[in-house]
Amino acid sequence: MDNEKLANLLFPQIDKTPEYWENKYPQRKLKYGAEVTRFAPSPTGFVHFGALYTALINKKIASESSGICFLRIEDTDKKREVENGANFLINGLQNFGLEFDESPVTGGDYAPYVQSERKEIYLTYAKELVRKGLAYPCFCSHEELDAIRQSQEQNKVNTGYYGKYAKCRNLTYEEIEQNIKEGKSFVLRFKCPYTAEQKIKTYDYVRGEREIPQNENDAVIIKSNGLPPYNLAHVVDDHLMHTTFVIRGDEWLSSLSEHLQLFEAFGFKPPKYAHISPIQKLENGNRRKISKRKDPEADVEYFFKKGYPVQSLTEYLMTLANSNFETWRLQNPTANINEFKFLISNVSPSGSLFDILKLNDISKNVISKFTATDVYNLCYKWALKYNPDLSALLSNNKEYCIKMFNIDREIAKPRKDISHWEEVLPTYSYMFDEFYDAKKIVFPEQFDKQDIKVILSKYGDIFNENDEQSQWFERIKELSESIGFAKEVKMFKQNPEQYKGHCGDVSTIIRVALTGKTQTPNLYDICLLLGKNRIKQRFLNVLKEI
Ligand code: GLU
Repeated sequence: MDNEKLANLLFPQIDKTPEYWENKYPQRKLKYGAEVTRFAPSPTGFVHFGALYTALINKKIASESSGICFLRIEDTDKKREVENGANFLINGLQNFGLEFDESPVTGGDYAPYVQSERKEIYLTYAKELVRKGLAYPCFCSHEELDAIRQSQEQNKVNTGYYGKYAKCRNLTYEEIEQNIKEGKSFVLRFKCPYTAEQKIKTYDYVRGEREIPQNENDAVIIKSNGLPPYNLAHVVDDHLMHTTFVIRGDEWLSSLSEHLQLFEAFGFKPPKYAHISPIQKLENGNRRKISKRKDPEADVEYFFKKGYPVQSLTEYLMTLANSNFETWRLQNPTANINEFKFLISNVSPSGSLFDILKLNDISKNVISKFTATDVYNLCYKWALKYNPDLSALLSNNKEYCIKMFNIDREIAKPRKDISHWEEVLPTYSYMFDEFYDAKKIVFPEQFDKQDIKVILSKYGDIFNENDEQSQWFERIKELSESIGFAKEVKMFKQNPEQYKGHCGDVSTIIRVALTGKTQTPNLYDICLLLGKNRIKQRFLNVLKEI
């Protein structure tokens, strides 16, 4: 068959040759060892937590080698695509603080970065394979393909379009021409030169050396709508964009040999590969991949809605990605995360387990290191979008709130009480009169009502806004002594029968009356911030309820 003639028959509209694109997208000028990675999501209408994980690893590998990480939108599967999906995705990634060196938004020398805009490129390369005799049109209908599959199942042989089952491989030029004249639609298939009995050795940077069976299928490389499926698009794009390292989900492992065959057919050098296992969850003792259908946290928006700072999520994802990250963080508590040396070989081949408690711990730690002003600003930004009550409180009481956030903060061992902004209001509601309700104050049972009454009726007058903390506590001790409580905890422990309790108990009663909680940040700071009048007023209200 005259392949050149066939190529022109199938793709008359394509007048460019691969050389044109090779010249348009020359080698990148990067220093030796620089990796070019990419994040290549399909716009399915949301940002999957696992995709973010892959994106972060890609970014990290590029930045550590002074390389490039670009964003490519893979929208050739029109069935999976949702309206505005690409914009949604790009915004989601931006919210997460993920900036790419090249992307559909920023552009770049290898544009376009949206696959549906690269149709002409794919068709040029598809035409080239036809020219080389390595691809052919297939006119089989769904019914014919079904029949082939059924006969294979009956004969207990591998299903697929290969060998003697690949009927369209043998069409003559005239038959093809006739089909086209009749307006029959076709897909383009790769003429696979291998059988499944043949093996290929591959190296995966997460899984190590592996021997996998060759693909034997004449894979579709251009669909009837003129767009390529993932296989051809991946090979052509990653070649022309000079990707050196493909780090992607492990669902692509099974088609790796097909991809490598295409690289070989084109005469391209394949990139390095690392296949990442999905983030998993334990369900009844079994691991399963987190899924959009079952797990709200599969969608990154879940974390934004709850108000997890980006930094917390990044730290958490890094913990999932590299098991040595946590130790590094302990040893370098204040270091910038970018200083962490990420090793792709430390990514677990079996996948990491998602654990919200761990994320919360990490996030509490992250937030505890923010300044009060940062907490205010980030929390306000979140509240504006997700919590109108809180945003009103924050904007009407800016200075007061910053002081409130500053309690037990900006010190050597800051308090770790908030893991995400949704927790701010429940944690600090007592600092706002509109959320403080004397009727709801419940004292721990061990305290005598009469003692509570005495303490609350006296303390309002004793409290002095000008006291230093030690003086402030001294007054509580004196009050304790005057009403039969031990001035020092030690004294109480030596002779418990002599006292009603100790100064700590008196503080607890004051704390509960003011906040409704037995555990709060530093009571002295809370008292100062509330001020004498509000303290007295709260005590009066509580006394009415006892
Ligand atoms: N579009 C593919 C996906 O969303 C990308 C895989 C890759 O990174 O090559 O799974």
